[in-house]
Amino acid sequence: APTVGVLALQGDVREHLAALESVGARAVPVRRLTELEAVDGLVLPGGESTTIDNLLRVFGLDEPLRAAIKGGLPVYGSCAGMILLADRILDGTDDQRTLGGMDVVVRRNAFGRQVDSFETDLETAGIEGGPVRTAFIRAPWIEEAGPGVEVLARIPETDTLGRPVAAAGRIVAARQGSLLATAFHPEITGDARVHGLFVSIIAGS
Ligand code: GLN
Repeated sequence: APTVGVLALQGDVREHLAALESVGARAVPVRRLTELEAVDGLVLPGGESTTIDNLLRVFGLDEPLRAAIKGGLPVYGSCAGMILLADRILDGTDDQRTLGGMDVVVRRNAFGRQVDSFETDLETAGIEGGPVRTAFIRAPWIEEAGPGVEVLARIPETDTLGRPVAAAGRIVAARQGSLLATAFHPEITGDARVHGLFVSIIAGS
């Protein structure tokens, strides 16, 4: 089984560790460079992207992680983690940086405020067995994606009651090589198939 790290500086680390274990990976928290060097893949969890950005710099993990991503380390970023994987960011704070690696523009807090959080079922390319149960919590979306980026999921045109959706068509899951990003949290709904997809990406890399 691959050893998959979860960046454990801030955010919902435990839920990702549990989801990874449930699909057969050996899951370990990563806070130090030596721990980063020992993993076959890494999850960047949801949380607060500005805080994780700051802590990456404080812990001296930002440059090593950039280098690891450039070197082909498989990385899955969820929500704040998706922001960290994006090459460009809209509505970030003035000094906010990302790790980059994925040729996308993300818009932070794109769906609105905390009260605008929601759960929904989403058809996701590369995931069999029906739509994925997802949670959007003050989530970003991908506003633009480069030609090398495979779009895996978009917000549907209507909700389950047939009403039009404001964010219709927005990209909320994408893959570029061994980098995977979702605007949503699959780790808190009990649906571990996105983690399963990530483990298969690690196996194939
Ligand atoms: N709004 C948060 C940010 O900007 C992300 C929220 C989340 O990860 N659930 O980082």
